[in-house]
Amino acid sequence: MEWEIINANAVTPSGVVQDASIRIKGGRIQSIRKGKSTDSIPIRINLGGLFVYPGLINAHDHLLGSYLPKVGTNRPYTNWLPWDNDLKSSVIFAERQQLEPEQLYFLGSYKNLISGVTSVLDHVPHFVQEPFLDRVPVRILNRYSLSHSICSYSLGWGEGPTQEYEKAKRENLPYVTHIAEGFDEESENAVRTLQSLGALGEHTVLVHGLAFDEEDIRSVAKAKAHFVWCPESNLFTFGKTAEIRAILESGINVSLGTDSPFSGSLNLLQEIKNARSFFRDEYGEDLDPKTIFQMVTSHPAKALRVSENLGSLEEGKIADLTVLSSDKTDAYEALCSADLGSVRLVVKEGVPQYGDLALKEFFDETGVIGREIRISETDKYLAGDPLGLVESVTRALGYKKDLAFFPVG
Ligand SMILES: [Zn+2]
Repeated sequence: MEWEIINANAVTPSGVVQDASIRIKGGRIQSIRKGKSTDSIPIRINLGGLFVYPGLINAHDHLLGSYLPKVGTNRPYTNWLPWDNDLKSSVIFAERQQLEPEQLYFLGSYKNLISGVTSVLDHVPHFVQEPFLDRVPVRILNRYSLSHSICSYSLGWGEGPTQEYEKAKRENLPYVTHIAEGFDEESENAVRTLQSLGALGEHTVLVHGLAFDEEDIRSVAKAKAHFVWCPESNLFTFGKTAEIRAILESGINVSLGTDSPFSGSLNLLQEIKNARSFFRDEYGEDLDPKTIFQMVTSHPAKALRVSENLGSLEEGKIADLTVLSSDKTDAYEALCSADLGSVRLVVKEGVPQYGDLALKEFFDETGVIGREIRISETDKYLAGDPLGLVESVTRALGYKKDLAFFPVG
């Protein structure tokens, strides 16, 4: 399939290309040019000056945990374990257990997609996500090795940090783990522990790092390991988050992640807003909007070792696109102020998955079958059967559940 976007503001690594034409062929970006091409092409979409970004990447989520409300009766916690115990003994968790993993995976996928996210790092043992990889409308980045956390009370994900890091090196994968998610002695020593296990290096992707001190930050930077920041989840659960300014200043590659809705943000656009307002409140200065843009595009692509194909608008890369409207003139400010109502079109691998109902003809031409729905008081079209999903959730629970991350009206 070949098609073209015209009259867009394309946000590329070399800057914003105004009045851009983007040609898509075989699921990849064939060209990005200024001005219109004159050759004939069957499908051409005029975006009327909207911003086009690479599809956003959510660097940390747990799709199986796509449920609400948040749980945290005994907040703030000293580490993740008592929170996890409270979660698993909660009424909300028991209610969630009435849903099938498939329903939760679709809910989590739609949550991400409607906020402009095309790729998600779903941190979980692989057998859990495997049945859904080819079926959900977002890309689940499933090439990684993992641990749950670096402490003696970690859940038993993976073969252990040493083996999982070896596997990451052997197969050129990211090695993803929560770390220092709390303030007990083990959390405070976690970077040294990781180092002694031979699992801190260029393949390492560290999530949370609440207890990181200056020495830890230096070690992580020196090892060229990557960091994922989930401020909303941290602030909700622990009342604190990582020393993010020092982490950024050390040159560590930082990405943003939502974590699951049980503790984190409703979606990545909300996480961006939370990150920015936390930074302003904490340090009295602005976190550069261009840095934030990188934290949801090129930085996670690098950390998760997919930057050959994803994370930027460049010729030859996979055509994952997120189209936003805004009253801002600066593309990065536009992204940072976006909400669900700003998302006008989301394309994964050259195929539209979500967008304005006004684009229905485009969906039809590309052979995508979906449903008309209302989100943020706007008529939208969403691939798959989102209304059937909502009905099946209602049937399973016995009542209509309001899930704010998927506000279908
Ligand atoms: Zn997590």
